[in-house]
Amino acid sequence: MSGLFADDGIRPELDLSSRIEALKSALVFGDAAQAVGLQGSSEHGWNCPTCLSGLSLKERRDHKGARCSVCGTGFDALKVVMTVERLGFPAAVTFLEDLASSEAETPDLFGGDHDECD
Ligand SMILES: [Zn+2]
Repeated sequence: MSGLFADDGIRPELDLSSRIEALKSALVFGDAAQAVGLQGSSEHGWNCPTCLSGLSLKERRDHKGARCSVCGTGFDALKVVMTVERLGFPAAVTFLEDLASSEAETPDLFGGDHDECD
């Protein structure tokens, strides 16, 4: 339980840089790559969204970023979301926050009790 993502529906825009830091510690590159539908795996590499080479995007050893062995483009979780989903920077941050919060708490997919939502 990190408490990073307050569940009050308010996301303070002031604090973008600390939100990004929180995302970097919460997510690895592979989480974002999977979320945007890249083909591949952390082990074998991912398809590069820039040059479209197959499995050319190799993750760094810390899994926080990856670089294409064909075109040389480097990605982190935010950049891969921005590139594949064609999102602006703030939208990509929000996208990853949603991803991180769904990873952090097991979603109650079969529940349906969302009475606290208004
Ligand atoms: Zn490439």
